[in-house]
Amino acid sequence: MAGFETLAIHAGQPPDRSTGAVVPAIHLSTTFAQAGVGNHQGFEYSRSGNPTRSALEACVAALEGARHGSAFSSGLAAEDAVLRLLAPGDHVVVGDNVYGGTYRLLAQVHAHVGIAFSSVRLDDPAAVGAAWRPETKMLWIETPSNPILRIANISALGDVAHAHGGMLVVDNTFATPYLQRPLALGADVVVHSTTKYLGGHSDVVGGFVATSDDVIASRISTLQNSVGAVPSPFDCYLLLRGVKTLAVRMDRHCANAARVADALGAHPAVDTVYYPGLPTHPGHATAAAQMRGFGGMVSFTVRGGEAVALAVAAATELFTLAESLGAVESLIEHPHRMTHASVAGSPLAVDPALLRLSVGLEDVDDLLADLERALGVAGGR
Ligand SMILES: *Cc1c(COP(=O)(O)O)cnc(C)c1O
Repeated sequence: MAGFETLAIHAGQPPDRSTGAVVPAIHLSTTFAQAGVGNHQGFEYSRSGNPTRSALEACVAALEGARHGSAFSSGLAAEDAVLRLLAPGDHVVVGDNVYGGTYRLLAQVHAHVGIAFSSVRLDDPAAVGAAWRPETKMLWIETPSNPILRIANISALGDVAHAHGGMLVVDNTFATPYLQRPLALGADVVVHSTTKYLGGHSDVVGGFVATSDDVIASRISTLQNSVGAVPSPFDCYLLLRGVKTLAVRMDRHCANAARVADALGAHPAVDTVYYPGLPTHPGHATAAAQMRGFGGMVSFTVRGGEAVALAVAAATELFTLAESLGAVESLIEHPHRMTHASVAGSPLAVDPALLRLSVGLEDVDDLLADLERALGVAGGR
């Protein structure tokens, strides 16, 4: 099998046979001519299948080492499709440090149709086993997790889920398939917000489900067509374009984030730095074993609590104050009031002194200077 960078550039997108174009066309057509009833070239109607989307699905599935992939109009639409594999009465065990919108989808949407869930710390596989109920069908994890970058051992948790006859779902948004391939480690399903690193340029919202299980794949593709939360052909093109540079972008994201984590760790205004690449991170050894690199996300708490955190977030200039992550430009955000506002007061609530950085691809010395200045202003030094 070809290497990752080769697949990222070529999988699912051979040169066009009729024109020689090396870039897949953006097929805007909603419908496709049939030579006779039921005699078509694989496409009938663009909700059910579209050539640009098929190229994207083949490419990202190849990157995850999956036999099947389905693209969705957002990460949450992809997550919703996976949760629809469950039936009323089923139960989900979910990590206690997941994307706020995942929690909201469980608590405010799927709980209403009778799917219960409980959250648990993932760093102790025995605790996950203890949270399992007779009606538990799914273990849902994120690693590294959002926002404090905890590391879960994918193969150990896959063993727990499988020992109970359940499935393991991994949200691989933070790591990307370049840094971590959950299916090879024992996961059954991988979900992505492709809005983040896979798109990589803050200009497209999308989601993805990858699996090598034929039964799950066929249910996901039925859900994709039946519910209809599909990405536009233009969105699929943007994602195909973004994915081509995923490997080189991730290498630099990792390198810049490591420098930022070191600098924050040495700064007197900073309390705790959360970065799995730091040898002091409790998940460091697991991360080193299951990831190719430690990613571009760094979180930290500041001394002085929420007021100082808000002041730092307001004072950075290169780090733009904004939600989202994973693109070329660096971002800073305050999870307690922004991305994780929906989990305030729940067991998933985050420290108000916490700031989360998406370390981008700018010159790292400029990034370090921006943080140093903002921490100085906010800390009154
Ligand atoms: C952003 C994000 C999502 C949700 O994806 P959308 O594309 O915003 O719907 C899910 N999981 C993680 C880890 C995310 O960062």
